[in-house]
Amino acid sequence: MKTIRELYKIGRGPSSSHTMGPAKACKIFMSRHRAEHYKVVLYGSLSLTGKGHLTDQVIKETMGNVDVVFSSDFIDEHPNTMDLIAYKDQSEIARARVYSVGGGTIRFEGETYEETPHIYPHQRFSEIKAYCKREGIKLADYVRRFEGEGIDDFLRMVYKTMVASIELGLHEEGVLPGELKVERKAHHLYTKTMKHEPPEIYENRMVSAFAFAVNEMNASGGTVVTAPTCGASGTMPAVLRYMHLRHNMDEKRILDAIATAGIIGNIIKHNASISGAEAGCQAEVGSACAMAAAAHAALFKLTVDQIEYAAEIALEHHLGLTCDPILGYVQIPCIERNAVAALRAIDACGLAYFLSDSRKIDFDTAVETMFETGKDMPANYRETSCGGLAKTFKFK
Ligand code: SF4
Repeated sequence: MKTIRELYKIGRGPSSSHTMGPAKACKIFMSRHRAEHYKVVLYGSLSLTGKGHLTDQVIKETMGNVDVVFSSDFIDEHPNTMDLIAYKDQSEIARARVYSVGGGTIRFEGETYEETPHIYPHQRFSEIKAYCKREGIKLADYVRRFEGEGIDDFLRMVYKTMVASIELGLHEEGVLPGELKVERKAHHLYTKTMKHEPPEIYENRMVSAFAFAVNEMNASGGTVVTAPTCGASGTMPAVLRYMHLRHNMDEKRILDAIATAGIIGNIIKHNASISGAEAGCQAEVGSACAMAAAAHAALFKLTVDQIEYAAEIALEHHLGLTCDPILGYVQIPCIERNAVAALRAIDACGLAYFLSDSRKIDFDTAVETMFETGKDMPANYRETSCGGLAKTFKFK
């Protein structure tokens, strides 16, 4: 497994696979091939939800003189595929096929080059848990041991960015960009909650306000942290920030929680998928919920078995969740879904605290099941905006 720095990417929304990944691919391609003109052909999910996810916009901003073509073809290798072509004197001088595999990570076809090396010796939660028990360390210290120097500074920056997204999002009002004209709700939820005393009674609304704040920032192209993706970027910050404020947690606990959640997200990314185009929303918001549940458990110093169970419950009860963003915008159902997942993460942790000794399903099994379920899903339900709410929705 790679560094969790690869999982927590800081960048602009609304989509890690549809904006961050393609932008990175374009930059690399341009640095290799200076040309007068470029063409980018988008396939599969990148094409079908590219307009709503602002894929064409980010490509134009990055490349300048470029034609963006939306193809109706699906490429077997990956649902998020793009071809980049360079021209000089009207002739093609270079081309590359790139897969945007989730969370802003890309892969150039035929290249084994990896931007970052694999640094963890273990791939499955069972192996990591056994190692931690043998060494007498917690999951967060496992992360520190293999990530090495500077990781706490990185985790600090991640949290700072999450908090900034919440703060900015809570103050914004009005309508989100796009044809849906979705009203921002974070400010309303937050101010309504703050009017009541004591605010902790209104946990549901406060946690939701924080999640809405981040996802509304994401939907409007603001800066977020992929946790593990842009579309699912609100769940974890909502839980962390709420618990931080409510229980006056010290910084060390927050950093431990982010490191712990990083391992959970990394295992899912490495052994399954965090891409909605590949495995539906269970891979995005389901994974975010598992990360948030693990983070919450770490905040309260639960055991490694309880942390595992919290993450397992969170992922298991998102199995089968489809990705069906209306008109391709990362707005409905995405924003509200992050809030619901944040609340579910808190509940999952509560259950894990009492029931972890009697459980039958381990986290690795839940991850494997999620991926198998994702592969069995018809393409309509994997970020194509051809099924589910995206199909039945009608403007009133
Ligand atoms: S429905 Fe879920 S997976 Fe699909 S775009 Fe929205 S957040 Fe991402």
